[in-house]
Amino acid sequence: MTPSLPGAAVGDVMSLFGFLESVQNCLALIDDQDRVIMANRSALGLMGATREAAIGRPVGGAFRIFLERMRSRPSDGGQARFEHFYDNEWYTVQTYPLVGPDGRTPTRYMIISAIEITFRKRREFDFIETVAGLEEATRIAQMGTFKSIWQTGQTEWSPHMYTLHGVTPDTYQPGSGRYEELVHPEDRDYVARAERDLAQGNAMANVQFRVILRDGTLRWMRLDSRVLFDSSGAPYASFGTCQDISEAKRREEELRELLRRNAILYEALEASPNGVAVLTTDDAGLSVVYVNAAFEALTQHNSFSLNTAGFDALPSDPSDPVWIKVAAAMSASDGGAFEIECRRRDGTVFPGQVELAPVRDHPGRAATAFVVTLRDLTAEKERAAVLLQSQKMEALGQLSGGVAHEINNLLQPVIALSDLGMDVLDKDAAKAKQYFEVIGNSGRKAREVVRQVLTFARRDTPQLLSQDVVPLVIDAVNLAVKGLPPNITVESQLQLETATAALSATQVSQVVLNLMRNASDAMNGRGRIIVNLDRVGPEQAVAGLPGPGPWIRLSVKDQGCGMDPQTLARVFEPFFTTKPVGKGTGLGLSVVYSIVNSWGGTIKLESDIDQGTTAVIYIPEQT
Ligand code: ADP
Ligand code: MG
Repeated sequence: MTPSLPGAAVGDVMSLFGFLESVQNCLALIDDQDRVIMANRSALGLMGATREAAIGRPVGGAFRIFLERMRSRPSDGGQARFEHFYDNEWYTVQTYPLVGPDGRTPTRYMIISAIEITFRKRREFDFIETVAGLEEATRIAQMGTFKSIWQTGQTEWSPHMYTLHGVTPDTYQPGSGRYEELVHPEDRDYVARAERDLAQGNAMANVQFRVILRDGTLRWMRLDSRVLFDSSGAPYASFGTCQDISEAKRREEELRELLRRNAILYEALEASPNGVAVLTTDDAGLSVVYVNAAFEALTQHNSFSLNTAGFDALPSDPSDPVWIKVAAAMSASDGGAFEIECRRRDGTVFPGQVELAPVRDHPGRAATAFVVTLRDLTAEKERAAVLLQSQKMEALGQLSGGVAHEINNLLQPVIALSDLGMDVLDKDAAKAKQYFEVIGNSGRKAREVVRQVLTFARRDTPQLLSQDVVPLVIDAVNLAVKGLPPNITVESQLQLETATAALSATQVSQVVLNLMRNASDAMNGRGRIIVNLDRVGPEQAVAGLPGPGPWIRLSVKDQGCGMDPQTLARVFEPFFTTKPVGKGTGLGLSVVYSIVNSWGGTIKLESDIDQGTTAVIYIPEQT
């Protein structure tokens, strides 16, 4: 503290200076001509002069500048106090005019004191900078700040604090105990507890809660606060920041949801009865990144062993044309379903269905991964074989009535004419010859019928043979007709001389038989069935065929009751029937479907209610 000098007598001051030699304050006494009367050592330093050079001369150096500064300001009778920057240092400068011994009369003298305050000043600047920086930071971070003075209960909000809460200083008074009404009802208790904590002098860190703006918007807030202490160390206020973390919350929520879904997906994959493998593909080739439990059980491979052995370890024969198609589909980033014999790690094999689904980062781009589903078809194949056989027996049962009738018809002339022939044998040899011819013909016809039935009934696993389809179709139609009611007429429009395909005669019979029976049933046993056989070349685009052809087209058309779309959608399901018990088993079309499929062909049904139905089969022709 600089001593307060007004009123001090000159003489007192003079003697005082002796003592002030050692203080850091720079002190100088000057007269009304600005001449230096006295100066302590510190002051001489600032004047940049020795005592001899300074005393009695006009004041120089920093003190001259201080004087000029003092005179440029409005002053209180020569008494002034200001801060001044000189030669890289800050000074607090004070001037005191001296009065006479009466304490009132002005004298010609004045004291100038300068104290270096650079350090304090720097701290002050730093502080200002910190405050400014803080303000800027809160503005950039969209952070609201608040300060509550405990004693008065007064709370101040920064402008952004109002914005964050969707209120204005006109409509909302902070510290009025109304903060609760901005908080989501479910979070009010939590916030109230935090507020009590704060009031007890505890800091709050990362208190997260929701507020509801007056327009209904929900916002997640994060609150942090500190207790402020006064210079005596007593807590007097809390200062806090408030931040909108809705976006971060949303992302956190999304991430949690994603993880949850991933976990579910993973569980689902692991629980799937089908084998699932995930493959990634890049320049270095394919690698298996995941196989599920079913895949491991099915193939005895895990992703490591599969990567080591290569994906070609999966088929029993990597040069199988179907497997080559799989590889082609992969390199074309295509999907597809393929039936192929697969090999387990121990070398045993099983019939499998491999389904390939490409995964792309962007639609239209090459696949970066494939999901491969693997199904063991063993049980299915066994079931299908049983189904096929039992359906054949059923068809045979249906046939037998008609066949018995036919054979009976053929036996009639054989029996009658052999009796008659015996009678006329001696008298009329020509007549007898005629009778024997009829007997022979009937016998041959009967043998043919029996042959057809036997062919059909033979329990064989059909060998697909390359053969001419035309005579097979003729045979099949003829056989089928025998099992149909008498009021059904059949018109054959066979437009092919010959056409080769790989199939089995028995199966052709079974297909034709089933389709013609359905046609007959649809017409209640009275009406016309048209069987058509022709060819579809690659130039005739038929939608939905699995290749360009040529295709042998066999169709069976009726003018029966037709089907509504719901029925049509289900006809290939095994055991789906609309017919009364004892009449239909619902196996016919499902068997036709699987037979035609095994030939590499396709079946299509066109049907209109009350207009009739056409069943069309496409068989790949061998050329
Ligand atoms: P089923 O003849 O034993 O009922 P199918 O599998 O042969 O079994 O046929 C299934 C169902 O499809 C039939 O019950 C019938 O409703 C329908 N359906 C099949 N063919 C025809 C057709 N030509 N006209 C009308 N409906 C048909
Ligand atoms: Mg049927």
